[in-house]
Amino acid sequence: MSDLKYCQGPKCHTYHTQDRLKGPKGNKTYQTRRRSYLHFGEFCDNRCYNDWFNKYGTQAVNHFGRLTEAKHLTEQNAWTKTYDWNSDHDRVYVYLNTITNEQRPLTEAQYNDTNYTINTGE
Ligand SMILES: [Zn+2]
Repeated sequence: MSDLKYCQGPKCHTYHTQDRLKGPKGNKTYQTRRRSYLHFGEFCDNRCYNDWFNKYGTQAVNHFGRLTEAKHLTEQNAWTKTYDWNSDHDRVYVYLNTITNEQRPLTEAQYNDTNYTINTGE
């Protein structure tokens, strides 16, 4: 049972659902949800996810690094894989630059290869 993990929502135990109500008769308590799989990563649902972010979001951003200036997606790294259909109803794979609208041919294998890129930055 060690692979069960608790929802990290700080208010999870305060939500009145039957599955949270546990314990012997006369000594029941609402308890933090514990699951082998949590649908929102560390949280049982969207409400608990939001509760955590509302309480700790600012601290987390400060801890992991606050963005203090705009990031830029340049022409060199604005390539995105996409496809269109030709007159024979075949897929035609292309690399599309979302800034210049330049298109370059792309093979199906390159399209499916998640490591293949012609972008040169972040
Ligand atoms: Zn929860």
